[in-house]
Amino acid sequence: MPTISSHDVVILGGGLAGLSAALVLGRARRGVAVVNARGPRNAAAEAAHGFLTRDGAPPLELVAMARREAATYGVQLVDGAGVAAVRTDTGWRIELECGRMLEARHVIAATGLQDVLPDLEGADEAWGRGLFQCPYCHGWEVRDRRLGVLGTTESSVHQALLLRQWSPHVAFFTHTLEGLAEEDRLQLKERGVPVIEGKVKALAGGAQGLVSVELDSGAAVACDGLFCEPEARVDAALTGAFGWTLRADGCVAVDGVGRTSVAGVWAVGNVTDPAAQLMSAAGDAYRTAVALNAVLVEEDTAQP
Ligand SMILES: Cc1cc2nc3c(=O)[nH]c(=O)nc-3n(C[C@H](O)[C@H](O)[C@H](O)COP(=O)(O)OP(=O)(O)OC[C@H]3O[C@@H](n4cnc5c(N)ncnc54)[C@H](O)[C@@H]3O)c2cc1C
Repeated sequence: MPTISSHDVVILGGGLAGLSAALVLGRARRGVAVVNARGPRNAAAEAAHGFLTRDGAPPLELVAMARREAATYGVQLVDGAGVAAVRTDTGWRIELECGRMLEARHVIAATGLQDVLPDLEGADEAWGRGLFQCPYCHGWEVRDRRLGVLGTTESSVHQALLLRQWSPHVAFFTHTLEGLAEEDRLQLKERGVPVIEGKVKALAGGAQGLVSVELDSGAAVACDGLFCEPEARVDAALTGAFGWTLRADGCVAVDGVGRTSVAGVWAVGNVTDPAAQLMSAAGDAYRTAVALNAVLVEEDTAQP
C-alpha cells in the first residue's frame, strides 16, 4: 500500500507561479505540498530578465531562492511528476509517477507549458541562447545585432515589426508561412525588414549563441538571434486527469481568481496564459492563493 500524505493544498508544478502560491499559503499557515517534475520553461536561458529586483538572475537560481523561501514556512517540496488525479470525499488524491499519493482539499495546477520547438537542426542547442520566443525577455541582450524572425504564422509578421524596436537589422524568413500577403510585405518594407524567401533548415552556433541561419537552398544568412513562436502545449495527461475546460488557445480556462471549471482545482501561470511572464505568473498566483485561502476559511467555518 503506497504512503498517502494529506495537505490543505497540493500544488502541481514548482516554477515561480506554483512557488508564489505556496509562499502565500504557507505564510497563511496552510499545509502545502509542491510537487515538481523538472526545470521551469525558461531553464535553457542563461538569465531571466524583467523580474523586478532580480533582473538577469539565472532561471534555476530564481527557482532555488523561491524554494528556500517557501520551505521556511513549512511548505513540503516533493520531487516527481503528478500523473493522475482522483476525486475523493474530501478533495483530490494525486498520484505521482513513482507511485506516491498525496491527498488535498484543493489542488493548484502550476505546470506551465511545453514548447514544441521548430523542426530545425540545432534548434534544441540554440533554444534560449540564440533562438528565442520573446523580445521582452531577450531583445535587449541582442539589441542592434543581426536578427531574424521565423515565419510560421500570420503573427510572425507582427513579431518582426515588434523586433525592429530592438534592432535596425531584422530579416524575415518566410520559412513555412505560405503566401505572405502583399500588405504584410509593404509593412515589412516600411520598417526596413527584408524578406528572405525559402525554408530554413538549420541553425549554426549552438549554445554559445547563433552565428547563421541556413536555408534549404544551401545559402547561409549571418544572424545573431532568431525569434520564433513555438507551439506551447498544456500537458494532455493532466487535462485528461482533471477534465478541466480548455480555451480556444489550448490553455486552461479560469475565472478572475484562478478557479478552473472543476471544483477544487485551480490553475495559475503559463498553464492558464501563454503570454504570462515570470512576474505576472507569480503575481496571478499570489491572487489565486489569497482567494483559495478564503475558500478554505469558509469550509473550516462550515465544518468546525
Ligand atoms: C526560452 C525562454 C526564456 C524565457 N525568458 C524569460 C525571461 O527572461 N523573463 C520572463 O519574465 N519570462 C521568461 N520566459 C517565460 C517564463 O519562462 C514563464 O513566464 C514562466 O516560466 C511561467 O512560470 P510557471 O510557473 O507558470 O511555469 P514554469 O516556470 O514552466 O513552471 C512549471 C513547473 O511545473 C513542472 N511540471 C510540469 N508538469 C508537471 C507535473 N505533471 N507534475 C509536477 N510538476 C510538473 C515543471 O517541471 C516546471 O518546473 C521565458 C520563456 C522561455 C521559453
